Amino acid sequence: MQTTYLDNNATTPVSEEAASAIRRCLQSVYGNPSSLHMLGIEAERELNAARRELARILRADPREVYFCSGATEANNTLISGIARASRARGTHIVTTTVEHPSVLEPVQELERNGFSVSYLAPHPVRGVLPEQVLDALRADTVLVSIMQVNNETGAIFPVEEIARAVKAVRAEIVVHSDGVQGFGKLAPPTAALDAYSVSAHKLHGPKGVGAFFLRDGVRCKPLLLGGGHEHGLRAGTENLPGAAGFAAAAGAAEQQREAAQQRMQRLKDELVTAIEQIPDAQLLSPPHALATTVAAAFPPIPGEVMVNALSEQGVSASTGAACAASRGKRSHVLEALGFERRSIDSAVRFSLSRLTTADEIRRVTELLPHTVARLRPVAERVLR
Ligand code: PMP
Repeated sequence: MQTTYLDNNATTPVSEEAASAIRRCLQSVYGNPSSLHMLGIEAERELNAARRELARILRADPREVYFCSGATEANNTLISGIARASRARGTHIVTTTVEHPSVLEPVQELERNGFSVSYLAPHPVRGVLPEQVLDALRADTVLVSIMQVNNETGAIFPVEEIARAVKAVRAEIVVHSDGVQGFGKLAPPTAALDAYSVSAHKLHGPKGVGAFFLRDGVRCKPLLLGGGHEHGLRAGTENLPGAAGFAAAAGAAEQQREAAQQRMQRLKDELVTAIEQIPDAQLLSPPHALATTVAAAFPPIPGEVMVNALSEQGVSASTGAACAASRGKRSHVLEALGFERRSIDSAVRFSLSRLTTADEIRRVTELLPHTVARLRPVAERVLR
């Protein structure tokens, strides 16, 4: 059966560039970058090259780029570490209700440890507005963390504008953004930010490797203590093949970014037009969402039933975030955006990448109307 992969917000296939960088490091650069001998020096050189490449793309200094195991670790390190390092100055944090759990959970943990948190509710169409963030600031605010692109809807939040607005009134507040779904797809907003989290496996790099940007001079306590790697902020022998694969994937994404976005937008428009023609289908993504993501609902068909039916026909989609889907949890993002329960329970997310083909989109647009027409009467009967 032909496969149509439309779950790229969950993870992406590894690109040729990344696979060959990983293979080269695995097979011939096996030294420990901290070792003093020739093989160690060679590994360190390779790691530095990967760091320089990410720094170039992030428009940062290589000393401001730290490798880690993925964006979950990057978000945990930055949020918990920056908050703990700033405790003497204040204990208030501003974030949104639609962040990924790897932001929300550490924030909630800080709340249990004496911090107070303002959770901003984004507008379903306009997103998070800089005024909203400014209104939430308090004298004791130390950290603002707002994602660049939402993983469930593709909504783009103006993080650069937000960071500039915050910095204009209180330069000492640290501004972080979870850039997982925006990195390699939008221009990096790092010039305006203090901290930014990214992950390799969302842009055709390997799983289990990520990085974060932390502006020089911003204080952060490490989560992992040990051998002092990554300038003391992330102990543990570096995942060199992962870092090299990440740098190769990020380089390719950056080089093809604009052309890929335009092509994906055309494919997404085709998919949206097809969805709009299905009776009673509802688009959950805002009109100006990133070209990667289309969230839609076909009530009253449960999202899992649609995803299974599509899967049987070779199409991989998702009910929403893969981590929530696997636990059968109702989406906190769609709930926060105020969608009715009926729409949330029917949500299906299609997510594209630069490797998505026109054929894949054609297949799903052909399958969708028939699949909905077949499943809807059954769902209506069961719910009656
Ligand atoms: N933030 C967002 C917005 C994400 O979509 C994800 C991946 N689901 C993460 C953080 C976590 O990234 P990782 O899988 O690298 O831990």
